[in-house]
Amino acid sequence: MPPILMYHNVGAPGRSLNVSPQGLARQCRLLKMLGYHAITLRELAGHLEAGTIPPKAVVFTFDDALMGVYTHALSVLSRFGWRGTVFAVSQRLGQETEWATNIRHRVMSAQQLRELHDAGWEVGAHTRTHPHLPRLNPEEAWQEIALCREDLSNLLGEEVTTFCYPYGDLNEQVVYMVQQAGYRAACTTRKGLVYPDTDPYLLPRVHIAFGDGASGLLYRLWRAWRRTVRRQVTVRSGDEVRDSSLRSE
Ligand SMILES: [Zn+2]
Repeated sequence: MPPILMYHNVGAPGRSLNVSPQGLARQCRLLKMLGYHAITLRELAGHLEAGTIPPKAVVFTFDDALMGVYTHALSVLSRFGWRGTVFAVSQRLGQETEWATNIRHRVMSAQQLRELHDAGWEVGAHTRTHPHLPRLNPEEAWQEIALCREDLSNLLGEEVTTFCYPYGDLNEQVVYMVQQAGYRAACTTRKGLVYPDTDPYLLPRVHIAFGDGASGLLYRLWRAWRRTVRRQVTVRSGDEVRDSSLRSE
């Protein structure tokens, strides 16, 4: 049951969508102590396809490819010999998160994204402009999904294979397009842990919040475990799996 941890910015001013570098380091230390090791989302997708869930694996994901990830998370994770996965908005590199309703964050530049990639990090796609995909017409949604993959693959010289739905906003058509565009896995904002039978296009995550250190992470892992166990019980009792998974939280 690998947890996919969901972060946004690291060490930026303000509380919103932000953890401190110290908090992140404490979380890494705790995970290491518990015997965990970090893998990228692409690696996890490979395991899911092969039907093998690696024991004690954890995935660090950072939505929006914000500057603090380049400035802080890269060095914190590398101290543990680990790498993460960033989800980049391909037409907003080097700009600000104009889609955010509260604090705006700086997005890393194309060059910084390349450096992160060269350091072994995975770059996943997060659309071209960060829209609410279900609100777009099919043609626009397809362009956001498929052309982001093209933009990033061209930038990095390597095929981008994972996706993250902006705002966790999705419907069946959007999920279908993500599959058709050639992605192998996609993250939602649903909460929970990954099991061998988890739909790779509806991956749940563990939300990490401002102020979370080691104990905060432990609490959130426990909550995710409890939530997933409840879901498994519901699934076994005959509920519609796909529909319950699609409900965004
Ligand atoms: Zn986002």
